Amino acid sequence: MARTVLVTGGNRGIGLAIAQAFAKQGDRVAVTYRGTAPSDFFGVQCDVTDAAAVDAAFAAVEAEFGPVEVLVANAGITKDTLLMRMSEEQFTDVIDTNLTGAFRVAKRAATKMVRARWGRMIFISSITGLSGNPGQVNYAASKAGLVGVARSITRELGSRNITANVVAPGFVETDMTAELPEERKAEYRKTIPAGRFASPDEIAGVVTWLASDAAGYVTGAVIPVDGGLGMGH
Ligand code: NDP
Repeated sequence: MARTVLVTGGNRGIGLAIAQAFAKQGDRVAVTYRGTAPSDFFGVQCDVTDAAAVDAAFAAVEAEFGPVEVLVANAGITKDTLLMRMSEEQFTDVIDTNLTGAFRVAKRAATKMVRARWGRMIFISSITGLSGNPGQVNYAASKAGLVGVARSITRELGSRNITANVVAPGFVETDMTAELPEERKAEYRKTIPAGRFASPDEIAGVVTWLASDAAGYVTGAVIPVDGGLGMGH
């Protein structure tokens, strides 16, 4: 059955691959963007740090396709630097986008999901949220926070047929990792049992599965998609 899917940050990288995977299986897909409107999907302009913009984006999707049934909270940023150099602004900016942004969209989606007594929420975290990483105190805190968000939603809304899960990618070939120096990437590759970074499609496949009927009893889970880097954690 076709569903209405909203992917935040669905105009590029992992979010775009997720949007494409849902579209390929026949779902009605909307994506949020900040700059240029995406050509392939119904795009709604939205900065997830702005609650009014989030509300307006959901209203636009609802007018076009009906209530959001599958929410993928994917929008995310990094502002890396070591703890002793990290400004409070660098910390709070990353939290505001990655964690509070996910809270804003989940809260907005929940009302309609409860009414429908069906819903799927998928939060794109990171292996960094589970293992930590030098230079990423802000990012790791935001990504670890998503686990608490998803598990609390699971306890609040589980009986309404709403699942909330976390996907924790390792290194994925996108603009975000393109910023890393080549030597650093080579070093990282040596530590990954799979010996390579993931393609965005390899994250998307797990996300579409979590939204499927086959995964209806999977909730509150953290699913690593990291080529063995975290050995299941
Ligand atoms: P990209 O940098 O390629 O894309 C990030 C996306 O998030 C863009 O669509 C961007 O929109 C959007 N975004 C950022 N800030 C906001 C905001 N305030 N409001 C709305 N949208 C925003 O990143 P990836 O595709 O690599 O990452 C996607 C997610 O996966 C992120 O949450 C990231 O933390 C996570 N992840 C990535 C990994 C990797 O190795 N690449 C590994 C583990 C997790 P815009 O185009 O307007 O900037």
